[in-house]
Formats: sequence, structure tokens, C-alpha cells
Amino acid sequence: MGKHSGFQTKRVIILGSTGSIGAQTVEVIEHLNTLTHQSESSIRFEIVGLAAGSNHRQLIDQADKLAVRDLALANAPGRFDQSGLNFRLGHDAPRRLIEEVPCDLVVGAIVGIAGLDSVLRAIELGIDVALANKETLVAGGGLVIDAACKSGASLFPVDSEHAGVWQCFSAMTPMSYAPPMPAPESIERVILTASGGAFGTQSRDQIMHAKLAEALNHPNWSMGTKVTIDSATLMNKALELIEAHWLFGLNADQLGAVIHPQSIVHALVECADSSVIAQLGAPDMKVPIQHALTHPMRSRACADRLDLAKLGILDFHEVDPDRFPAINLAMNAIRAQGSAGAMLNAANERAVEHFIAGQLPFGQIDHCVASVMDELSIEPIHTLADVYAADARARACVDQCCPNKAGETR
Ligand code: MG
Repeated sequence: MGKHSGFQTKRVIILGSTGSIGAQTVEVIEHLNTLTHQSESSIRFEIVGLAAGSNHRQLIDQADKLAVRDLALANAPGRFDQSGLNFRLGHDAPRRLIEEVPCDLVVGAIVGIAGLDSVLRAIELGIDVALANKETLVAGGGLVIDAACKSGASLFPVDSEHAGVWQCFSAMTPMSYAPPMPAPESIERVILTASGGAFGTQSRDQIMHAKLAEALNHPNWSMGTKVTIDSATLMNKALELIEAHWLFGLNADQLGAVIHPQSIVHALVECADSSVIAQLGAPDMKVPIQHALTHPMRSRACADRLDLAKLGILDFHEVDPDRFPAINLAMNAIRAQGSAGAMLNAANERAVEHFIAGQLPFGQIDHCVASVMDELSIEPIHTLADVYAADARARACVDQCCPNKAGETR
């Protein structure tokens, strides 16, 4: 961080800047810089690099608006106007952006396994990462945590539940480092909340042939397509349990999920002495994004405040394992280690692609993932190539197990 005229400058690269989390990160940074301008905060954020998947127009608009020159575009169109901008193109473009542009913090918000390579590189280089991409840890958790231990880079969780656990843990420890780790024997269980997604308590039969637009109709959160579909199958919670395993070093027996339709409590930590610490907040991703950016400080929020009296009631109920098999798949993957997380993640990404394309009924997504986990053997993971090999095997298996079912969808 550089120091100029009374405030510090934090240089930020946003990976996945045109997605839902990326765009909200830009909004939060603009808000935080207004506070600096009004002398309410001593940190000024400078966005020094942006990476996007294929939306080159939106990326160029963002670059113009934010005066950013260094860009990465993974899937570039044939020809487009790059004048005045320093573009890196191709699937390794986000990684090259990290290697070539000095920064203090990387926001990892690329969706899916595509986000792993660049986040891992940032961590290897000792750069702190505000991590929104859960697939990075689900598929490559062992590699990422080893690299962070070697380089000393910190991982600041942006996923709201993990930001919640992080804040609960900080109530249990003298906090200086992220994520703060209380003594293992002081934790009984960490519980992540799940809204239950678009279909709430409807039965499997009722949702078997649910349409894409219905699955995208999330009651609480405004999120990207993939994560909203994952919320409806609870696969999002399954991936988050694996993410929590890696982030906080918890085993499967120390992890759990509970349905909480209002999405106000994001995580709970049950301590050894039966005291439970919970983190609450309005369901707005700008809250955990801001927390990860400003940690260990707190600044005035650009998100709505929580009014518990107005809400009145918070509900909690158990996850039905038959209705939502994804949770047990995650627990099995945590116990199995090796390539299990990478396979689970890849099978789900592929099955969701089939659903979006109208080639797999909604109610078959998690069953398809379960059959891939049954079918394939779990291999050890030593390198990024091992992760990609497991990922490719699982995707191919989905394509075999779930041949074109377009005729069956309504
Ligand atoms: Mg989440």
C-alpha cells in the first residue's frame, strides 16, 4: 500500500469484474472512496486491473469509467477496438494480469473452475485475496491452502456465510490475521444457513421439471445465474461446506447446514461451552464484500441496515437429506479428500450447463452429480494438472450419464 497525503492507497485487481460480485465490488469501492474524500476513511482504493470472461463491451465500459488500462479477457471476439487499453487475451489472461500488474489485493470473483488458476497464482505471489469464487477452494483447496501457508498471503472470505464464520471466530480470538482461528477444542460445530432457494419447501416431484426462469427466481439474494441455480438444489450450500472445510480447517463432523428462509443469519458457531455466536446482516452481498475490502477496519455501509423489529420472526428448520442430497455429497467429498471436491464441482457445473441448455430436468441435476461421484474413483491431487484431469473426467461422465434429455423437459 502506498501512502499519500494522509491516506493509504490499496491497489485492487478485480477478477470477474463484469459478473454480479465484480460489479457490486466496483460499487462498494466507489462508495468507500467517497468516504475517503469526505475524510471518513483513511484508505483509498485504486482499481488497477480488471478481468472478464467474454463480455468485452462491458469490460471496456468499466475500464473507461474507472480509468483502468490493464485488462484481461478470457474469451475474446475475433476483432475489437483495444485502443488506449492494455489487453491480455486468452484463458490464461487473468493469471498474466496478476503476474504483470502490481497490486495489494485481488478480488477473486470469476465463476466456476475458471477462477482457480489466477487466484492460486496471486496467493503463490503472496498477494492477499478477497475470495468470492467458492469453486477455487472446492476443487483446489489443498493447493490453495498450501500456497497461502508458504507465501503468507491471506484469504478474506467474501461468500456471506464464510464472512459470517470469520466474524464469529473473531469474537472468539484476539484477532490480527485472517481467517482468525480459535483453538480447535473450543469449537463444537460451525453451521451455515441456507435459504432453501427458489423452490422452498416444494417436493422433488413438484420441482422435477421446473423451468430456468423459476429456478432463477431467488427470494432473497440477487446473484449470478450459476449460484442461483445452485441455491435451488442446495448444491451452493454443499460447495460452501467444502469451502468452509478448507478455509477454517474443519472436518465434516464439525460442519452443518440449517434452512433459514429469511437469509438474515448467515452463519453460527456453536462453542464447546454451548454458547452460540451468530453473524447477522441484511441479505446483500455488498456487506461481505465491504468487510473483506476494509478488514480489519469498519466503514459506513452502502447497503441497507438490518431492522430486526420490522422483520419480527426468523425461522430455522432441518435440511431434508432426501429432498436435498447435495449436502451428503459434500460431507462425503470432505471425508474422501483427493479429487472428490474437484469432481463434485465439475459434475455440478456441467449438469447445470445441461439444465440451462434445456437438456436436463431440474430435478435430475443433483442425481446426475451423485451418479458421477458413484461412478468415478477418487485420485490424489498434487498439482493443478491433477485438478483439471479430475474436472475433465467428471464432466465427461456427466455427458455420458446424462445424454440429451431435451425431450423430457417441459
Ligand atoms: Mg453464500
